[in-house]
Amino acid sequence: MHQKFRLVKLEDYEDYVGAKTIERIMRKAEPLRDLHVAHVNSTYYGGGVAELLASFSLLMNSVGIKTGWRVIQGSPDFFSTTKKMHNALQGGDINLSRMKKKIYEDVIHENAIRNHLDHDVVVIHDPQPLSMIEHYRKKGPWIWRCHVELSNPDPDLWNFLVPFVEKYDAVVFTLEEYKKKLNTPQVFFMPAIDPFKIKNRELSEAEINNRLEHYDIPTDLPIVAQISRFDRWKDPEGVIEAFKIARKEVDCTLVLLGNVATDDPEGAEVYESLLDCREERIIILSRQDSALVNALQRQAAVIVQKSIREGFGLTVAEAMWKATPVIGAKVGGICHQIKDGENGFLVSSVEETAKRMVQVIGDKQLRQRLGKAARETVRKQFLLTRLLEQYLDMFNAFETDYRLKV
Ligand code: UDP
Repeated sequence: MHQKFRLVKLEDYEDYVGAKTIERIMRKAEPLRDLHVAHVNSTYYGGGVAELLASFSLLMNSVGIKTGWRVIQGSPDFFSTTKKMHNALQGGDINLSRMKKKIYEDVIHENAIRNHLDHDVVVIHDPQPLSMIEHYRKKGPWIWRCHVELSNPDPDLWNFLVPFVEKYDAVVFTLEEYKKKLNTPQVFFMPAIDPFKIKNRELSEAEINNRLEHYDIPTDLPIVAQISRFDRWKDPEGVIEAFKIARKEVDCTLVLLGNVATDDPEGAEVYESLLDCREERIIILSRQDSALVNALQRQAAVIVQKSIREGFGLTVAEAMWKATPVIGAKVGGICHQIKDGENGFLVSSVEETAKRMVQVIGDKQLRQRLGKAARETVRKQFLLTRLLEQYLDMFNAFETDYRLKV
């Protein structure tokens, strides 16, 4: 291929994970060479799944597995239904009417017709494309990779989904605590980040300043930032409340940066509902700019992720990689990234969030200690090489009848 288009390769991770890990992963990839794999999800950008697939599908290609990425299409009705399903899987309410089920199943049927999934392995991400499996004769294992926080799903909805789930040969959940009563084997992989992409690579001070200036984000005071899709589950109101308490004790600027995923019709409404909270020192921005995400995560004195529910929370690992301390809500996957007091802080209320903001902003040594430990946590546990190895282990563990040896 043309040199101009050099892609990140597994070997590029050697400085971070060591030669032994790279060799081990290469060995595991060898028997899978030329396997044809498809990942399917419901949006090209916005949200952690698209973020992950953009890098991960390429890294799988770099070890010789022919990996593609398909995105389903749907009408606004469809995405409004699937967003309600997403909310209900995380513990929200849903009126699961016959009409909603019909919209869901019909649109997935249409996508199944269009997609011709005759791959050796098919990985379906999240509930939106789940029922595609109904419409294919399998040529190899099908895996359902559910990224949602699943500790307390709406029972009616879950019962509606189970017959689809049990057609799969394996299910991947983010955490063991999301385990369900299912006939299908279940494995657990946490997501991971790509340290080489624009969002995560090193930036010079000039590059950081340039990005922040471009959006008129002042750097004269310490910055507190939350970077998340505009979604109630991310509790942007709670972040603003905590900031207002904290700034009584310490001068700082709050930045809420968010984007809206194409499969999330509620985003624009949430964004608009926040606009009245804007002030000179409360900046609320809706932009899709990866370099800005990177610059903010590096410049901030502290990053907040005050989610009410969070399957994993890639934004936490992204900020930790930049050695920036994170104050994260004590929920879902955030608890598996932050060790309270060691590499960040876990919080359970607005008041606690405010208290930690004041503490972290006021103590440079604490920031450095937490930040250093945070970066090391990500290096050891949350780089894409770890996830790649888990996928390879799973692919290698399928028997010829697609049964997973677990
Ligand atoms: N993100 C972004 N721009 C924004 C807000 C978020 O690029 O304005 C990215 C963020 O950097 C992360 C992903 O979107 O990579 C969000 O993933 P996460 O797992 O934190 O949450 P999700 O949106 O999947 O619930």
